[in-house]
Amino acid sequence: MINCRICNNAHGNRVHTAKEMMYGTRDEFDYLECGECGCVQAAEIPYDMSEYYPENYYSLTLERENFFLRLLKRRRATQAMGGDTVIGRLLVQIWGIPPILEWLRPVGITQDSSIFDVGTGAGQLLLDMNNIGFSDTLGIDPFLDHDLNYGSGTRILKKELSEITGVFDLIMFHHSFEHMPDPLDALRDANRLVPLGGKVLIRIPIAGTYAWKTFQTDWVQLDAPRHLFLHTNKSMEMLAAECGFKIEHIVHDSSAFQFWGSIQYQRGIPLKDERSYGLNPKQPIFSRAEIDEFEKKAIELNELQDGDQACFYLRKTKSA
Ligand SMILES: [Zn+2]
Repeated sequence: MINCRICNNAHGNRVHTAKEMMYGTRDEFDYLECGECGCVQAAEIPYDMSEYYPENYYSLTLERENFFLRLLKRRRATQAMGGDTVIGRLLVQIWGIPPILEWLRPVGITQDSSIFDVGTGAGQLLLDMNNIGFSDTLGIDPFLDHDLNYGSGTRILKKELSEITGVFDLIMFHHSFEHMPDPLDALRDANRLVPLGGKVLIRIPIAGTYAWKTFQTDWVQLDAPRHLFLHTNKSMEMLAAECGFKIEHIVHDSSAFQFWGSIQYQRGIPLKDERSYGLNPKQPIFSRAEIDEFEKKAIELNELQDGDQACFYLRKTKSA
C-alpha cells in the first residue's frame, strides 16, 4: 500500500478501481482514498497521458466577437466591477452579470489586472475575458499542438507551468489542477508567480462529497485516468499551507452533471456515447422532470458545501 501523496498517511487507505468512461475504453485504473485527508488520487501516475487526451479533446475553432459587441460587453463588465455609467447600468439590467465575473468579483481585480490561466485548453475562457475588456491575459496548456495568438493581448502557449516566469495579479486553475501530476509543485510555482497578498483561484472536483459517497468509482468527475487528484477541503488546506497560501473562502458550484453523468456510468453509458444526455439531451434516458430534480438537488448540495465541485480562493501569505 502506498502513502498518500498529499499528507503522507499510510493508515486506513483504501484502493478503488475505476474505468475510463469518457470515451468508454473501459481501461482500469487504481485510485487510493486517503484514510486521513480523504484525497482520492491515482495510485500510479502514467508518464504518457497523451493517449487519453485525443486530438479532438479541445475544440480549436474559436473566434473573437465583433467590435461593437465587444464594446458593449466591456461596458457591462466595467459596470459589474464597480464602475457606474448609464449605458453600463442598462446593459447589466438587460444581460445580467457575465458568469466569469461571478467567480472573479470576490478576488478584487480590474480589467487592467494581469491574469494567468493554467490549463487553458484552446483559450475559450481567456477569449471571453478579452471580449469583456481584460487586456493582459496569458494561458498555457501542455496538451496543445502549438501556441495560439488571438491578438489583443490574449496569448496561449504550449508550455508547462514550471517554464513560466513573471508576476501576475491573479492565477486561475479552472478544472486543470486535478489533471496535474504534482499539485505541490504546481502550487509552489503559483506562489513564485504572484506577489505577497496575490490571489490564486482553483476550481476543482471535490471528493468526500455526496456524489463520491453515492456513486464511488462511477462518480463522473473521478474521470479516470485524466483526473489524478480529487481533493477534499482538508487536503486543500494542507496543500495551501505547505505552499505559502491561506484559503480565504470556498464556493461550491456543482451542477446536475454530477447526477446524470454518474447515473450513466452506473448504467455503462460513456459520456461521449450516442446515448449520452451530454451529446443528445433529447434522448429518453432522463425525463425533463428528472433533470429538473438533479438541478434542484445540486443547488441544495452547493448551499450545504457538499456539491461535487468548488472554487477555492487562495491568498499568498508567505514565499514557499
Ligand atoms: Zn492524505
